[in-house]
Amino acid sequence: MKLTQKLSQSKKTLFSIEILPPLKGKSIQSIYDGIDPLMEFKPAFVDVTYHREEYIYKKREGGYLEKVSIRKRPGTVGICAAIMNKYNVEAVPHIICGGFTKEETENALIDLQFLGIDNVLALRGDSIKTEPAFVPEPGGHPYALDLVKQITQMNHANYMDNEMKDAAPTNFCIGIAAYPEKHFEAPNMTSDLKYLKAKVDAGAEYIVTQMFFDNSKYFEFVDLCRKNDINVPIIPGLKILSGKKQITTLPKIFHIDIPQPFYEELEKCKDDKQIKEAGIKWCIQQCQELVKANVPCLHFYTMGASDATRAVAKEVF
Ligand code: FAD
Repeated sequence: MKLTQKLSQSKKTLFSIEILPPLKGKSIQSIYDGIDPLMEFKPAFVDVTYHREEYIYKKREGGYLEKVSIRKRPGTVGICAAIMNKYNVEAVPHIICGGFTKEETENALIDLQFLGIDNVLALRGDSIKTEPAFVPEPGGHPYALDLVKQITQMNHANYMDNEMKDAAPTNFCIGIAAYPEKHFEAPNMTSDLKYLKAKVDAGAEYIVTQMFFDNSKYFEFVDLCRKNDINVPIIPGLKILSGKKQITTLPKIFHIDIPQPFYEELEKCKDDKQIKEAGIKWCIQQCQELVKANVPCLHFYTMGASDATRAVAKEVF
């Protein structure tokens, strides 16, 4: 079922989660162990992230360095199929531009269609660690906008081979990302919103936001979107801060702020256990305010910490 249909049918705020594929070589059981404790809250959907290859340098005999491509977390599509099969819940694979030619994207989308996957989150993807900026694959897409356009084309039965006859249309509901605190590369919010609107005009039907710890940033962002004629559902993304390290790593990696009142609470904590308790408490307050504002869904970036997500969900749903 399309997520937009689910969202419009529900009168109350829904619950959803994002999970990461396990590290290569680990069992899928770790995924089930993360989802099982959250099934009681009836997730409307489970997002599965996509991780492209990275390059590492391996020292070989004679001291020379060999550049080797590795994928640390493969398995997005297989995990989506397994989740749908095991839990009968919508699984949403993340599809990225990075590392894909347009043909490879087309073939990946055909696989998803055959598996009965109705929803995809279309993203550009980040640059690989060894490159200072995002570089598209030769023959690939530079922006999520181009990926959205390709999926929309396929939804209209237009494949890359335009001589193809009687092609069946795909039927994907397309989600996209947005940033209440601005995407870090965008020169300003106006420019970021311009391209966000372009993605919606190109066929994106819902938005999932980057994590934020200050609800006012989300509310202001939604207002700005509506003023700019971006009228699709905007699902807030939430992360439960659960360790001392994250106080500095989350702002650095995701380009978001920790609001001062929350930071003051975190500063009082003596260890990771107390930080996690403060993170859960803060997130519960965020969620209660968001539910009051009638947001369509609360989307949790579980990042392997389903116990914290469970603690929050128990208080909110
Ligand atoms: P885009 O929409 O392409 O935007 C990127 C930047 O370019 C922005 O600054 C935008 O303003 C600008 N821009 C957009 N279009 C144009 C244009 N036509 N011309 C000029 N400028 C333009 N990464 C992964 O690798 N795997 C994942 O699974 C993953 N999941 C994510 C899930 C969510 C909910 C979010 C918020 C992010 C996720 N990311 C993931 C990270 C994401 O890929 C990065 O944040 C990436 O840097 C931007 O992706 P985007 O789709 O927003 O890009």
